Amino acid sequence: MQFSSEKPPIIWTNLLVLGLPPLIAIILVPWYGLTHGYDLFEWVWFFILLSFCEMSITAGYHRLWSHKAYKAHPVLKVLFALGGACALQNHCIVWASDHRRHHLYVDDNDKDPYSAGLGFWYSHFGWMIREYESVKDDLSNVDDLYKEPVLVWQKKYYLPLTLLMNIGLPILLGYINGDIWGSLLLLGFLRLVLSQHFTYLINSAAHIWGSRPYDPNQTARDNSFIALLTYGEGYHNYHHTFAWDYRNGVKWYHYDPTKWFIKFCSWLKLTSNLRTCSSWRQERTRIEVQYRNAMAKCEKLIDPALWRKQLESEYHNLLKTLNHWAELRQQWYEKESRMLQDKFHEMDAAHLQRRYNELKIRLRNQRKSWKALLNDFSMLSPSHAI
Ligand SMILES: [Zn+2]
Ligand SMILES: [Zn+2]
Repeated sequence: MQFSSEKPPIIWTNLLVLGLPPLIAIILVPWYGLTHGYDLFEWVWFFILLSFCEMSITAGYHRLWSHKAYKAHPVLKVLFALGGACALQNHCIVWASDHRRHHLYVDDNDKDPYSAGLGFWYSHFGWMIREYESVKDDLSNVDDLYKEPVLVWQKKYYLPLTLLMNIGLPILLGYINGDIWGSLLLLGFLRLVLSQHFTYLINSAAHIWGSRPYDPNQTARDNSFIALLTYGEGYHNYHHTFAWDYRNGVKWYHYDPTKWFIKFCSWLKLTSNLRTCSSWRQERTRIEVQYRNAMAKCEKLIDPALWRKQLESEYHNLLKTLNHWAELRQQWYEKESRMLQDKFHEMDAAHLQRRYNELKIRLRNQRKSWKALLNDFSMLSPSHAI
């Protein structure tokens, strides 16, 4: 492991470029605010640019290019490339390469570039400031991205693009507003630092705090609070389980502005082929995890036989109904297309509808009793345990 012997050499450029803006944001931004103040124009542009950077990373670098969760119009790709340069998180080809290795080798301290196993500081920031072996550029996993003209262009002109977006744009907006220094500090430095550290939280905090309803065997967690700061990327356990889904927060009430943005763009024909994991598969995965956790807890009980029997029976019944439900939904979709072709009789349609309704009620009841059983099981006092 890397930390066992001498630490690798520091990358001074990275340390300077990533370390200096936070100091300016902490010291000069409040000082200028107290002595000169910031106006509404500056605050509005601050939020616009912050959202632009974040969305370019979450919808562009991450879900579009790293995971191919949907397809995007060239106009959108150019905007993402500019926003990515504004976020100063390297050009997308390297970003996506690191990220694909993070998914492939998650928690392997020698191969995951920002493994959470090496601690909060390392996965948040530390991995970028030393020449760690696991972070060495190996771009063999991003051949597909070299075929994207926008990304090749972004890579070639990355330095001028970052200067243009991080210094040129704030100066221009400051010039229009009559306050260049205020604009540089707020739109340049504070916006940059917040957008970077919000993204870093996904690699650090979202691998430390939260729940693991889809895959308890890895560190990635679902965390609604981190989702608020990261434009929806906080549902990280789900994401690591179904990385090709264009959504991270799959429930309607999950705060995931990136998914809303991608969906909204599909109505404008700017995005297409949005990939999703079926709700049936999600539910089956969650129930399997709940079942395995409960059975593991059973091992610690004094008399587990009764509980084990009950858990097994409820679990298998629910799974059976869920599978029927998935089959029936498939038949339902097929029915729609066959009806269009006039190949489906009304009698068959009525029969299908009846089965569909019956199964819906059965599924609802079984979900309820599974939930009640898990609830009772979780209330077991320590006296039941060995
Ligand atoms: Zn992760
Ligand atoms: Zn990812």
